[in-house]
Amino acid sequence: MSYKHKKIGDVAEALQKRLEKAENRQSVLRAPELKALAAEIPLLKPDERASFGKELNQLKAELEKLAANSSDDSENLEPIDVTAPFDVNAKKPSLLPGQNGSKHPLMTELDGVIEIFARMGFVHMDVRQLDDEYHMFDSLNFPKGHPARDDYDTFITTDGLIAPAHASVMQNRLQKKYKSNLGQGKPIGVVYTGRTFRNEDVDARHEHTFYQVEISYIDKNINAGNLVTTFKTFLEEYYQQKIEVRTQPFYFPFTEPSFELALSCPFCKKKGCNVCSYSGWIELLGCGMIHPNVLKAGGIDPSIYTGFAGGMGLDRLVMMKHGIEDVRHFESGKLDFLRQFS
Ligand SMILES: [Zn+2]
Repeated sequence: MSYKHKKIGDVAEALQKRLEKAENRQSVLRAPELKALAAEIPLLKPDERASFGKELNQLKAELEKLAANSSDDSENLEPIDVTAPFDVNAKKPSLLPGQNGSKHPLMTELDGVIEIFARMGFVHMDVRQLDDEYHMFDSLNFPKGHPARDDYDTFITTDGLIAPAHASVMQNRLQKKYKSNLGQGKPIGVVYTGRTFRNEDVDARHEHTFYQVEISYIDKNINAGNLVTTFKTFLEEYYQQKIEVRTQPFYFPFTEPSFELALSCPFCKKKGCNVCSYSGWIELLGCGMIHPNVLKAGGIDPSIYTGFAGGMGLDRLVMMKHGIEDVRHFESGKLDFLRQFS
């Protein structure tokens, strides 16, 4: 920009050069030269005052514009690597060291159990942690007032909801959810796992809160041989060795016939040790053929389809795998115990 008044033109040239070099560019707007020019106005001839004042204002406006633009320092900032996991320009957040936390050993083992059943064709469902009387008892062929209900003494909320005492609370739900499989010629195969509860005197072998793993398989022509083979296959995969299983009759309202399944001790190969109480066998799970009344409650015709179900305690399974002597360790919060598995 050119100025008719030489004094203003000279100051403009000088201040523009100063602006280019100044660290604090805004300070140039307060330059004494500008004040000196303003002080000259009253001394000028009246006919010059207006044009001088106008040009001085133009100069100030121009300098303000230049100072404002040049105060944008973005080109001087360090670049940010947007691909970095943290902002490399920022102070690193203080993370907890790895040894302060790890996955709970029961959860690690549970994932492994679900994965084995998934490879055998079972889909997974989670057990609810609060349920109702229908799913806990009525749909599972427990007659009202039947003493068998007393074997499942658990916790009840003031609203009448039940902390499930076994994973079988999912039996009716899985049948209703997957019964369309049967119409398409496909079986129902579900593994359902979760926390279960009992009003139990706690000792080295009993906890009031524990995890259960249960499976159900329903199709045409399913028999007890399928049941035994399925659990034997699972146990051999879980313990990574050949295992023998044997059954003996048992009673559950929701299966008929019902069995208790024992496996040959994976530690002593039936020679006898303290894990198996020197018997060579370990009773691990309850199972049986699903009772026709339970199939009917799920909307499945028991004259066409049959199925088996069986459940076991995850805690027990894991205790045997790792030689853990006291079930209370799992819920104890003892870091020395938990860190052995991290
Ligand atoms: Zn043994």
